[in-house]
Amino acid sequence: MRVGVIGTGLAGLTSAIALLKRGFDVTLIGHGIKSSNSYLAQAGVAFPLAEGDSLRAHVTDTIRAGKYINDGETVWSVISKASEAHDFLSSFGLRFELETEGGHSFPRVHTIKNETGKHLTKVLWMRAKELGVGFVRGTAESLGILGRKVCGVFVDGEFLRFDAVVIASGGFTGLFQYTAGVGTNLGLMIGDAILHGVPARDLEFVQFHPTGYIGKNRVKLISEAVRGAGAKLVTEDGERFVNELSTRDVVARAIYRQMQAGKRVYLDATGIENFKKKFPQIYAFLRKEGIDPSKDPIPVSPIAHYTMGGIAVDLWYRTGVKGLYAVGEAMSNGFHGANRLASNSLLECVVSGLEVARTIARERPKNRSRREPPYRAFEPGDVEAIRELLWEHAGIVRTAEGLGAGLKRLEGIEADERLKLLAKGVLECALAREESRGSHYRWDFPAMRKEFERPSFFNGRCRL
Ligand SMILES: Cc1cc2nc3c(=O)[nH]c(=O)nc-3n(C[C@H](O)[C@H](O)[C@H](O)COP(=O)(O)OP(=O)(O)OC[C@H]3O[C@@H](n4cnc5c(N)ncnc54)[C@H](O)[C@@H]3O)c2cc1C
Repeated sequence: MRVGVIGTGLAGLTSAIALLKRGFDVTLIGHGIKSSNSYLAQAGVAFPLAEGDSLRAHVTDTIRAGKYINDGETVWSVISKASEAHDFLSSFGLRFELETEGGHSFPRVHTIKNETGKHLTKVLWMRAKELGVGFVRGTAESLGILGRKVCGVFVDGEFLRFDAVVIASGGFTGLFQYTAGVGTNLGLMIGDAILHGVPARDLEFVQFHPTGYIGKNRVKLISEAVRGAGAKLVTEDGERFVNELSTRDVVARAIYRQMQAGKRVYLDATGIENFKKKFPQIYAFLRKEGIDPSKDPIPVSPIAHYTMGGIAVDLWYRTGVKGLYAVGEAMSNGFHGANRLASNSLLECVVSGLEVARTIARERPKNRSRREPPYRAFEPGDVEAIRELLWEHAGIVRTAEGLGAGLKRLEGIEADERLKLLAKGVLECALAREESRGSHYRWDFPAMRKEFERPSFFNGRCRL
């Protein structure tokens, strides 16, 4: 049985290895590990395994962060597989240290020198190659689907035939103007799945990280740990305006408001002793940008960081199209709710990758069709215009007026229909959700409302 896995981040690599170990012929499709958000992940993976910690505590923290619209069954299911995920990573010789992170009531963030993603992806990539996973370098342009059954994938114009396809192509932060994530995460496969009749879930929930540094050539994340070590947020007049240790959404909105008022915002880390030793990666980056954090305040801005929404799947990562599955940030089955708890994403990547291999082994879908399905070439068009639009109209603070104007403006943009469809989903579902919850903040509806305590689905129209 041939399985195609789209995406070479942690979710794709885990799926590929787990499938290969079950005897499948596996092909990974993508651009390599360095073009993934998994490679960039800093802090770590949340496993509730330290003495005294519990599944219940981790579940409670996850649902509290998700503002009570997480799918309870999914949350329990993912977290109860944490020990299996931990042991899978450890089996490759990876060793972690334990850290505390905001939102966790217990030290359960497993880190490797604050460059966790780089170490995980490098080791899994090597292991996948050693085991015999095939690799096709390129962009998956469209899914091959005939009569509600998957039969393959078009990669740079060529049709590759598969019995099953796993979408592991990440989220869509690349569809926002400012992100520290990779530009290839545009959500093309999410848009393509929607076009093929697979709904997306919770698209309006986009997590913004408060402290990004927008450099000349690159956007870099200045991690929470820097604020944790005592750095202060100040305006250009030197005024403090927020408790730096509040949650991400609160800090991001406070910075946004200062910027809307025309002020520049800085992270003043000059009081941190030994910045270079504590944050070597960030230090090296800033020095290249001509900033010495022990003397100079660091200019910061919120950036798009994580998309909670994605292709709607069930507990076993099935999409509803036979033979089509989705894992990692590309999908949503309600684990994160309205806001992701820090370090839960890498956990979900490993758990979903291991689980999808079990699902495919159970279902053993077979593609008997010899026909070639319709092909849609990826013609990006004016992606920049969509990025600017989503940043302006579906960014940190949203209003009915702004979202409505965004929907109108979107119609006039010449870009790939799948990217436009996904952008429409974000705008429409943000418009339909007349409340503020987690990462979704509506200026005109600033409170959480009981009647919206449910997920949204988008299949060309938003259902909420
Ligand atoms: C700077 C940063 C720091 C982070 N730190 C943490 C952390 O400490 N802990 C945590 O839990 N989470 C963290 N996150 C989030 C986490 O890294 C991601 O959610 C997670 O890595 C997603 O993994 P994935 O495998 O689903 O997707 P990705 O790792 O993003 O991989 C998706 C891959 O698919 C490829 N792709 C996309 N479209 C196509 C296509 N059409 N054809 C072929 N390939 C395609 C992309 O190029 C990419 O290589 C961080 C994110 C960022 C940006």
